[in-house]
Amino acid sequence: MKVQETRYRSLNSKPIQKGPVLYWMDRERRMRDNWAFFRAQEIAREHDQLLQVVYVFPKTFLDSAWRQHHFMLKAFQEMQEDFAEKNICFNLHLGDPVDVIKKIVQEGGFGTVITEMSPLKLPRSWRDQLAKSVDCRFEEVDARNIVPVWEASPKKEFGAYTLRPKIHKKLDEYLEDFPYIMAQDEMLGKVEPIDIDEVQKFLEVDKNIPPVDWIEPGEKAAHKMLDDFLEERLEGYDEKRNDPLEDAQSELSPYLHFGMISAQRIALKVNELRSHAKDREAFLEEMIVRRELSDNFCFYNKDYDKPEGFPDWAKKTLSEHADDKREYNYSLEEFEKAKTHDPLWNAAQMQMVKTGKMHGYMRMYWCKKILEWTENPRKAMEIAIYLNDAYELDGRDSNGYTGVAWSIGGVHDRAWAERDVFGKIRYMNYKGCKRKFNVQNYIETWLGTDQEQLFS
Ligand code: FAD
Repeated sequence: MKVQETRYRSLNSKPIQKGPVLYWMDRERRMRDNWAFFRAQEIAREHDQLLQVVYVFPKTFLDSAWRQHHFMLKAFQEMQEDFAEKNICFNLHLGDPVDVIKKIVQEGGFGTVITEMSPLKLPRSWRDQLAKSVDCRFEEVDARNIVPVWEASPKKEFGAYTLRPKIHKKLDEYLEDFPYIMAQDEMLGKVEPIDIDEVQKFLEVDKNIPPVDWIEPGEKAAHKMLDDFLEERLEGYDEKRNDPLEDAQSELSPYLHFGMISAQRIALKVNELRSHAKDREAFLEEMIVRRELSDNFCFYNKDYDKPEGFPDWAKKTLSEHADDKREYNYSLEEFEKAKTHDPLWNAAQMQMVKTGKMHGYMRMYWCKKILEWTENPRKAMEIAIYLNDAYELDGRDSNGYTGVAWSIGGVHDRAWAERDVFGKIRYMNYKGCKRKFNVQNYIETWLGTDQEQLFS
């Protein structure tokens, strides 16, 4: 079975050279159900070459902290063993990804480099630099979206309503099963065991944001979470997913974010079920249409993390309300330490600080209040993105940048009734939350611990 040609594209005009194939794993941290890995293996087999897999940790990555790196490292230890069972060498490297990959390619005489498509600016800049500096073919594969981002649409979409029909039209073509992973005849290179302490010393990330223990990292744990969701939580998803007190979400976003599970595998498994049609439909709308819309937004809009990326109507209305008096004006530190006047907001912040995963409904309220209580939308975006990226396991993701841009800048939304500060941007308030769920229980759940202790 071949990888569909529309799923990958060359980033330079250089031909495949004689030599082994390097799969530079970056966005998709899994062995199974991974089109980038299959593409690398396909080229290796066609050219009778061996394949090696590497991952590179830079000293920092956006605002990620020790919490997220620890999650990845544990998963890499498991993945190294899985690859070794297939006679494939997977090693972790430390340093600037461009320098490291360039050096590996030169020293190892690699003839092809494969990586995955990422819509974010920093990973894109790594790919652009490498495309110029390696002397062999360099391809990127969209191993994240079911319908490759460039196939789903050639432009930035207005909203789910414009992308949905385009995705659904092509879903049958792309929602196919994955090939079987074949073992190599011999291993290229030597497996270097991953030393978590050494990596921790190397990283220059915030080490005061600790790992969390409610969720196990790795591919196997991701598949277990999926099975548990399908058995125990899918029923009622449509009705209950917006209640932060219900255990009704899939909890798959950390795995999807780190690429530890493929959305395509999830969709295939959901489609095997016969019951709970409404719940399945609601879940697939989020996991396919909404998620792929986020990649579309970041892929076609380099200002995905700035007010310049907002639609024109939103820019206009926010600028008309730029001088509105803000009832509260909090600093990043006050937000970070959950020191606002609003216990519901503080509770949401603490859910994120403690668990690395704020409930989906609360993320909207949380972000909209940051707009309400800062001096301007730019500052609000900076604060929301920093907190989301530093604390959430699933942060630093197109979903996060798009979620923040939706909340603050009306991206993929429409104009609503006009009011202070927000202008025509959709508003959310405490009373609305009270009508939806038991706000007091949520506050008690997440503000139970002494806040000072967590930050001392
Ligand atoms: P489920 O409800 O089980 O959904 C399953 C999957 O569908 C999710 O894992 C996700 O991939 C996708 N999905 C669900 N809701 C959305 C949505 N609104 N937009 C796009 N995809 C969606 N999601 C992230 O993955 N990372 C983030 O950093 C992130 N930050 C957000 C910030 C704000 C301000 C907002 C409003 C939303 C953010 N979201 C983010 C989107 C959404 O809240 C999370 O994907 C969801 O809560 C993750 O939990 P789950 O996997 O249990 O969700």
